[in-house]
Amino acid sequence: MTTDQFDLIVIGAGPGGYVAALRAARLDQKVAVIERRTTFGGVCLNEGCIPSKALLDSSELLAMARDDFAGHGIDIEPPRLNLPRMLQRKEEVVAKLCSGIAAMFKQAKITSFEGTGRLLPANADGSHQVEVKSADGATQTLGGKRVLLATGSRAMELADLPCDGDSVVTAREALNFEAVPKHLLVVGGGYIGLELGSVWRRLGAEVTVAEMLPRLLPFNDAQGAELLQRRLKKSGMKILLETRVAGLSREGSELRVQLQRGETQEELVCDKVLVAVGRRPWTEGLGLEEAGVTLDQKGRIQVDADFQTSLPGVYALGDLIPGPMLAHKASAEGVAFAERLAGQASSVDYANIPGVIYTWPELASVGQTEEQLKEAGIPFSSGKAHFSANGRARAMGETDGFVKVLAAPESGRILGVHIIGPRASELIAEAAAVIAFEGSVQDLALICHAHPTLAEVIQEAALAAGGAALHG
Ligand SMILES: Cc1cc2nc3c(=O)[nH]c(=O)nc-3n(C[C@H](O)[C@H](O)[C@H](O)COP(=O)(O)OP(=O)(O)OC[C@H]3O[C@@H](n4cnc5c(N)ncnc54)[C@H](O)[C@@H]3O)c2cc1C
Repeated sequence: MTTDQFDLIVIGAGPGGYVAALRAARLDQKVAVIERRTTFGGVCLNEGCIPSKALLDSSELLAMARDDFAGHGIDIEPPRLNLPRMLQRKEEVVAKLCSGIAAMFKQAKITSFEGTGRLLPANADGSHQVEVKSADGATQTLGGKRVLLATGSRAMELADLPCDGDSVVTAREALNFEAVPKHLLVVGGGYIGLELGSVWRRLGAEVTVAEMLPRLLPFNDAQGAELLQRRLKKSGMKILLETRVAGLSREGSELRVQLQRGETQEELVCDKVLVAVGRRPWTEGLGLEEAGVTLDQKGRIQVDADFQTSLPGVYALGDLIPGPMLAHKASAEGVAFAERLAGQASSVDYANIPGVIYTWPELASVGQTEEQLKEAGIPFSSGKAHFSANGRARAMGETDGFVKVLAAPESGRILGVHIIGPRASELIAEAAAVIAFEGSVQDLALICHAHPTLAEVIQEAALAAGGAALHG
């Protein structure tokens, strides 16, 4: 029996679903949210962006105290790791943010249901029903004019390396190791593997990254990725490219992993393996096939400009649909979806979604890379400026890296900005804003930047791209 009627039923309360729900509620929709977890915030808050950044920040402080304080004239006893406290702090950060969403839901009068949502075949009048099954097996049915699917994604696994949740794990468990592994093998050199590998390396583990491709981060600026690889190696991380996992055997707590490198096979002995080979949309159990929602060959839900699926009145966004699997992309879609539903002309600028790898140094980019522009035959000028020539970076003792600005030769319009260096994650926001307003290198160069700041390197790179480098 259908118990409640809503304008919009959202399945999944990650950064896509919860943002869409909030925006829709503030635009006067009666909204219900169904979430299978006991907390809101999805993968991002519970086992992704936030806990990983909490551990990255904590481990960075430990590494600074151990490796850099003496250079600043601060002599301390060698710092000791209190891992339980570090993990507890991460949980506190997560809990605070999750409860913040619950409070916002309450304020926006959103009704939430804890349980697993499943789409039922549409009613004859085009309205929809969603079944909610709670953990104790009880079910209820909600009725809604529209349904938004926002169930996100799950970690992919490898047939030769099945995860057991203990020694062969996904990111979820790698955020919660109770002791520092002796030797952690990270399978997959994408951002999740490099970030979590950095955490455990800083905390004292031997870390080896095995990547199938001939280079790390193939969608990033090649020079930036190469510099990052060198810095990670310098930090003690071992990086094996063109390497596949061919098998695994166990001897007590020891894992013996067979690695295929070209024609040769090597054995690597470790105690933990993190499988970080990508994520896939989480569509299982949603009742999509029965209801008539079609998927593409990669298992993603196809949507139109309104985020509507092949079934009228049913929408999807976030990691479920094509595009980068990033929290801010999901949230931008959440806002655009709700505003379009209310008749506004909102959209997402997919060409300019910034991406960040929170290693040290950080790697951040927005727009197109040199490699993409060359492949598309688009002419461009390039300007580069280094942090080593920047006063603030010198004062901080963080001189690694550069900013690269790519621009159209005639108009100077900025086509891409790539930053590797300290706080690149924060610096990229300026570049994203200028690109969003279709700004040129001249615009960027004319903005008065505070001195001394890291952001001056962006200004200098813009000047260089316009052929007017000041300090170069
Ligand atoms: C370790 C790690 C680090 C990351 N770091 C970053 C980062 O720094 N920056 C960044 O932008 N992105 C990062 N990501 C990616 C980011 O977390 C995702 O892109 C983002 O969470 C996707 O949002 P979403 O709303 O589409 O789905 P999700 O966040 O996956 O949320 C979906 C929610 O739906 C719920 N759900 C699923 N099925 C059902 C159902 N049938 N009924 C009810 N509820 C259901 C799930 O429990 C989940 O809570 C990271 C991911 C990982 C794993």
